[in-house]
Amino acid sequence: MKNYLNQLDQTTRTFLKNIGREADRSKLRVYLVGGPVRDILFNKKNLDLDIVIEGDAIEFARHLAKSLKANVKIYREFGTATLLFPHRHVDLVTARREDYPHRGALPVVMPGTLRDDLGRRDFTINAMAIALNQGNLGMLIDPFAGQEDLKAKKIRVLHDQSFADDPTRLLRAVRFEQRLGFHVEPKTLGLWKMAMKQKFYHNVKPPRYFAEFKKILGEKIPLKPLKRLYQLKGLAFFKIALNPDWKALENVQASMNQTNGKGLRVQPGLIYLIALLGNVSDASKEKISQRFQLTREERTSLLQSTKALKALQCISQKSCSPSRVYRLLGGFSLATILFLRGKTSSRSARQRISRFLTQDQHVKLNINGTQLKLLGFASSRRMGQALEEVLYQKIDGRIKNDRQELMAAQQLLKRRGNKNGAFRKG
Ligand code: ATP
Repeated sequence: MKNYLNQLDQTTRTFLKNIGREADRSKLRVYLVGGPVRDILFNKKNLDLDIVIEGDAIEFARHLAKSLKANVKIYREFGTATLLFPHRHVDLVTARREDYPHRGALPVVMPGTLRDDLGRRDFTINAMAIALNQGNLGMLIDPFAGQEDLKAKKIRVLHDQSFADDPTRLLRAVRFEQRLGFHVEPKTLGLWKMAMKQKFYHNVKPPRYFAEFKKILGEKIPLKPLKRLYQLKGLAFFKIALNPDWKALENVQASMNQTNGKGLRVQPGLIYLIALLGNVSDASKEKISQRFQLTREERTSLLQSTKALKALQCISQKSCSPSRVYRLLGGFSLATILFLRGKTSSRSARQRISRFLTQDQHVKLNINGTQLKLLGFASSRRMGQALEEVLYQKIDGRIKNDRQELMAAQQLLKRRGNKNGAFRKG
């Protein structure tokens, strides 16, 4: 019998073996399932380990946490647990059976066998398991010929009702197809199209459907599944005619790949969402935000983009100084700014935006209000204005040190004081 765990690195193999050994002691049957099995067979790295137990997963997770010295998080309402190790998370779940009371409803879940558990999954390539108990360690369990489909690069549902049972699988099919470079096989594609025609996606609560869509936006190369969805009319769930600016989306993707998203505290998916809905009216953006229960950050970023695109026109002009860029971009979310950087075709505009992000937005003054008071500034509002102006001069490189900051403030006081007495005391 082939041991499929041999394809894993030594550490992961030993780790899974230990889980199997503990399960033997507890007289439980345990299996590696779903995504990681697919990726082992497909020779792809996957650090997520999903484990199914024929028995009480929570009790077993507690036991494992003690013996393997890990922290454990219990999700009692879902009957699942996560073991937290310094470098990886392991999800444990009780093998379950699912019944769908009506189309798109959340399923009624009850404990079951591994076979039941695999039978409730989305696609054949995700419905395989590898045994972890000593007796059959490394054995592949593949009741739906997932391995064959994996070799033939096919996405196939397990049964004809699959998309009706759970329409979020419509999105998952395209996500896996495009991520893996597979194709949805003809019968499944027929069921897919039929499900779209009959608008099965209406049977799922919009935020749940959208959560699956966000996984597409969060893919490494989201443009492929987005284009495929568009081509298949799979974006109909937005309930508005979308006319995506593909060029902008491509630019956004290229610019995200360049920075690799590193060091950016932003969900890359949000930038794609802004770009996807770039041509949509504010009223529709508002509706979308409500229907899919977008977070405040998501809604704000979406609604800002119209104003941001106007700012981009200024930023694209040669005469736009760094301090002007600072003023133009200051109020926008990071996602909106990254969208603008991706959207523009002007190299110098891109450079100006990058300079704002890496340098100018962090510029601080060394002088403060107390020093300005000593110079003779009257009100805190005036002081605020003066500090702002000095900051702009510093951003534009006209101020190099603390002394020059003070001098600039002094000059402002003189200039304005002479003009209309606005800055001076008394
Ligand atoms: P990824 O690499 O994106 O994490 P994954 O296959 O691990 O891919 P998840 O969304 O984490 O995907 O789901 C884990 C497993 O749970 C899947 O492999 C699949 O077997 C099952 N699954 C997830 N969502 C569904 C669904 N809507 N219907 C049926 N099975 C599902």
